[in-house]
Amino acid sequence: MDENHPNGSWKGLPIPFSSKEWNDWQWQMRNRVTQVSAIKKYLGLTVKDVSAMTEVEKRFRTVITPYYLSLANPKDPNDPILRQSLPDQRELDMADFGDADPLSEEDDMPVPGLTHRYEDRALMVVTNACAMFCRHCTRKRIWNGNDANVCDTNIDAMIEYVRRTPQIRDVILSGGDPFTLATSRLESILKRLRAIKHVEVIRIGTRTPVTVPMRIDEELCSMLDRYGPIWVNTQFNHPQEITEESAGAIDRLLRHGVCVNNQSVLLRGINDDPETIKTLCRQLVRIKVRPYYLFQCDQVEGVEHFRTRISRGIEIMESLRGHTTGFSIPTFVVDGPEGTGKIPVMPNYLISQSEQMSVLRNYEGMIVGYRESGERVLPMIHRTSTGVAGILAGRVSSIVPEGSRRLSRRSARAACSGR
Ligand SMILES: *Cc1c(COP(=O)(O)O)cnc(C)c1O
Ligand code: SF4
Repeated sequence: MDENHPNGSWKGLPIPFSSKEWNDWQWQMRNRVTQVSAIKKYLGLTVKDVSAMTEVEKRFRTVITPYYLSLANPKDPNDPILRQSLPDQRELDMADFGDADPLSEEDDMPVPGLTHRYEDRALMVVTNACAMFCRHCTRKRIWNGNDANVCDTNIDAMIEYVRRTPQIRDVILSGGDPFTLATSRLESILKRLRAIKHVEVIRIGTRTPVTVPMRIDEELCSMLDRYGPIWVNTQFNHPQEITEESAGAIDRLLRHGVCVNNQSVLLRGINDDPETIKTLCRQLVRIKVRPYYLFQCDQVEGVEHFRTRISRGIEIMESLRGHTTGFSIPTFVVDGPEGTGKIPVMPNYLISQSEQMSVLRNYEGMIVGYRESGERVLPMIHRTSTGVAGILAGRVSSIVPEGSRRLSRRSARAACSGR
């Protein structure tokens, strides 16, 4: 164990390091693991695993920060950190299920790198580099070759497009990860966007708070502070990713006026169960991150083994709404094929309707009639409708599930006050 490591849990790196180095994001970037063979001695992988992974990484690169690796528990065969970062044989085996560009982002690019899909917002890819490459990435297609910032000519063309397109009021910097850019380079982009009158909001999509939180340093934060309002969208997928370091990074952003939202991806075997997502969402609001989206995993090549059915997302949403803090509940969205964009899907709460009445159900399963405005629903004695039809007919007002804790609190109160 290296006592220099802030968590004291890291088993050791091939090179000695101090905590000063560890906390330096440039050091983290320079010392990223880019070959699975380089980590086998730290994670105790069998040789068989490594040779399979080496085949995979020829097609889909391995890039992991020492910090992110240090969050892993190598003894857990389903460790969420390792599953998100280590290559998997199934990426090749099932590659032909998915598409390189499942969201047809390239088809909505008026200039290279800028996707103008929704009327009032545009997404700019400013680099192909990320601190870590997530195995489930939607843009695996841009990983090829080396880390490369988008060239000045293309950045200029994207900014020019935003300038001459007045309906764009929200610009999203994405990639890759914009926070892998030098602060000065990022500043030059932000400065030019901020100078455009119709750009009201600038968003930055970054996973650095999760993968290399030391990147969120004072220099970056005070720069961001000068170009607000800025919203950061990050991607925590599992409670194990919430650490003192990541909480610190979020805190620094918030203290510099940057709002932070989270976009999780629903990943088979990693977070695709109600308890994990509920814990994640609760812990996110504790560190003042607003859960924004829960994404259905896209149909990307090399990602098939992570995909769940849509029904799993619905089941998770059912377990959240009403059961926990409303603002800790993300919207579950499917980013549809052929450029349809994000489509929200959720359990049905509207059970039935007539002109006079809507029949709704709540999280407990209680079904209630809701009278529409100006309508009088007179009970029709001669009707014998039962069930939901009985509510529509005004015979009963609601159907109450057995064992409601809320209703038993009511009867306890009534008993208490002697009613
Ligand atoms: C996700 C996305 C946006 C932003 O969508 P919001 O629902 O506003 O967060 C904009 N453009 C593209 C191409 C996107 O994929
Ligand atoms: S940080 Fe985002 S863009 Fe980069 S590899 Fe992960 S999912 Fe892809």
